[in-house]
Amino acid sequence: MKCPICGAAELIHDTRDLPYSYKGETLVMAAVQGDFCPACSEAILEADESKRVFAAMQAFKNEVNTSHRDLD
Ligand SMILES: [Zn+2]
Repeated sequence: MKCPICGAAELIHDTRDLPYSYKGETLVMAAVQGDFCPACSEAILEADESKRVFAAMQAFKNEVNTSHRDLD
């Protein structure tokens, strides 16, 4: 399947560690399964995997916000 974002390349099904940055902190989400575009680096995840990744991002944001609260 061609990348729906850029249309420039075929997606590659793979398992990768995805970095996610928030307020200068970086979380690496381990072993994320999905279809990855080699041209624009977009990741297309299946519904279950997408939920897991979204939950990990939310938890990470909460953690970052909690640890930065003293600085506000
Ligand atoms: Zn793409």
